[in-house]
Amino acid sequence: MIYDIAIIGAGPRGLSAAVYGQRAGLSTINFEANVHGGQIINTPEVENYPAMERMSGVEFAMNLYNQAVDFGATIQYEGVTSVELEGDIKKIRTDFGEYEAKTVIIATGVTRRKLEIPGEDTMIGRGVSYCATCDGSFFKDKVAVVVGGGNTALEDAVYLTGLCTKVHLIHRRDEFRGVKHEVDKVLRNEKIEIHYNTIPLEILGKDKVNGLKVQNKVTGEESVIDTDAVFVAVGLIPHNELFEGQVALTPDGYIDADESCTTNVEGVFVAGDTRRKTLRQLVTAASDGAVAATAAYNYIQGK
Ligand code: NAP
Repeated sequence: MIYDIAIIGAGPRGLSAAVYGQRAGLSTINFEANVHGGQIINTPEVENYPAMERMSGVEFAMNLYNQAVDFGATIQYEGVTSVELEGDIKKIRTDFGEYEAKTVIIATGVTRRKLEIPGEDTMIGRGVSYCATCDGSFFKDKVAVVVGGGNTALEDAVYLTGLCTKVHLIHRRDEFRGVKHEVDKVLRNEKIEIHYNTIPLEILGKDKVNGLKVQNKVTGEESVIDTDAVFVAVGLIPHNELFEGQVALTPDGYIDADESCTTNVEGVFVAGDTRRKTLRQLVTAASDGAVAATAAYNYIQGK
């Protein structure tokens, strides 16, 4: 069988693409190496998805999965090992076989880089977060730490000052990587205390975070910052290794496609976090899924 759309990934963007593809009368197959739902399944509560007051990440993922399957989507739990994207018929290989499709939607997503320090993994959802916009409101009127020196960390720190009583910004160098405009906003904000040349050593707490042990790289001195939350913003890892040499990537490894979700390869589209974009949220992932599936539909109609 030649599918109309092969979707690589079954997170919110991949499943949204399946819903839109199916509703347009196309045959779709999602490939997923792990569990469907993507990173959102790690979020205890989603409360910023329009018109949906509150829902756990797992519930969100299950609803979207059921919706896609009810519309006729096929979800294949096989990790993709290679792709051939040139030509009218695209080939997708897994450890179990080879599949063909007229179009491909890349929805592989990104993972947040971790600090890899003690306490990090055990405290996820108990004060350790990788998304200030998603989880910031759980720390209203509390103290938060943000780790990182890029645009995400700078924006997160400023965002959190709207909720928290105080925000500590920990950066491993004495100069931020983010743009001047964002740096200036941080420097002007009296609620932010900046700790330059500081590296995190250990996240402290038993059932929930109560501190971050840090070290000053210049003096070697170790200290503890009392905090209720540690927001890790030390970069993203896009998973685009499969497409290197076939689809144009940005220097930092994202698929080079704009809001049209259209790549430089005919019939190949991209949805969500894995393309270059400024806001990586559930709502923008779902939106990209819709845009990419509609672009695939238009491409097939135009053939
Ligand atoms: P990023 O630009 O890669 O910055 C990561 C930061 O984390 C750097 O300051 C880095 O320090 C630090 N870091 C890395 N590993 C660390 C570790 N193990 N321990 C402590 N610190 C560590 O990542 P990002 O801020 O997430 O941004 C990703 C991309 O999205 C960037 O291209 C960014 O410009 C873009 N973005 C754009 C917007 C926007 O346009 N509004 C908003 C957010 C992000 P060093 O500086 O020492 O390397």
